[in-house]
Amino acid sequence: MSEKINIGWIGLGNMGTPMVKNLVKAGFNVTVYNRSADKSEALSKEIKIGVAYSAAELVPASDVIITMLSDDEAVKQVYEGENNIFSASIAKELTMIDMSTVSPQTTKYLAGLCAEKGISYLDAPVAGSVKPAEEAQLVIMVGGDESVYENVKPVFDALGKMSVYLGESGKANVAKLSVNLMLGVVVQGLAEAVIFARKNGLEAAQLLPLINASAVGGGLTKMKTENILNNDFKAAFALRLLTKDIRLATENGMDTPVGKTVYTTLQAAKEKGHGEEDMIAVLKYLSGE
Ligand code: NAP
Repeated sequence: MSEKINIGWIGLGNMGTPMVKNLVKAGFNVTVYNRSADKSEALSKEIKIGVAYSAAELVPASDVIITMLSDDEAVKQVYEGENNIFSASIAKELTMIDMSTVSPQTTKYLAGLCAEKGISYLDAPVAGSVKPAEEAQLVIMVGGDESVYENVKPVFDALGKMSVYLGESGKANVAKLSVNLMLGVVVQGLAEAVIFARKNGLEAAQLLPLINASAVGGGLTKMKTENILNNDFKAAFALRLLTKDIRLATENGMDTPVGKTVYTTLQAAKEKGHGEEDMIAVLKYLSGE
């Protein structure tokens, strides 16, 4: 496949929207479908994209259809049922790519159904949040058939700084859940360090530059420093989504002490009403806010 790949895109959330912008910037023809049509219509006024009003409508005009949706249920929903992918007649080569963070079970289930219909399927979740998505600096993990990956690699090149082929369907989901298990641990560790410092009279503004310059500092601590200092908890990565990822890890056998504690914290923070805020709202929750 060449740069002329026609792309259908499903999901204009925090991640999907900047990713679509990068595909258009790279010269791909993109048609989008979003459950809430107002988002696709607003984006079509900003950049050159087509707008579809169902997932099925994307099929005839697309070589590749990418999903970037909240969770397993949302991804499954765009395949089955009226006006969805499988209700369209598929007359040509079609590759489905799911870039959402879902379980390996969902990938294997959908890849199996697609195979029966002659459709190729890749799981291709991403590491990196909204800013890396905007800057086409995502890290993309890929599972499925390697030759299909090679064919659509130009699409990944437009979205990320690297894409890595990991093996059979579901392998990339396992990689992504591993990364996010560690993400949950780091987020809670950062929150706890700030809480401890404050309790002992040291401000976050004094502590965070030290963390960022030290061996324990890194992309995540730097990314969340301004949020903590400005008390800004607007979601780049919603706490409810990280909770979902640690749940998926738990359902796939995560049984280690720190991960289990992190899951308990996230569930409680979500129940306390922090689900729509950024994951760093763990700090608010553990501070008793
Ligand atoms: P988001 O902002 O919550 O957007 C979710 C998208 O899914 C929206 O387009 C929403 O449509 C759609 N959706 C939800 N339920 C649906 C359903 N039942 N049927 C059809 N569409 C549905 O999520 P996001 O932050 O973009 O994340 C998307 C995926 O990437 C998630 O799996 C997340 O875990 C993963 N991820 C996120 C980040 C991050 O930093 N945000 C980083 C890496 C990976 P509406 O507009 O109609 O609500």
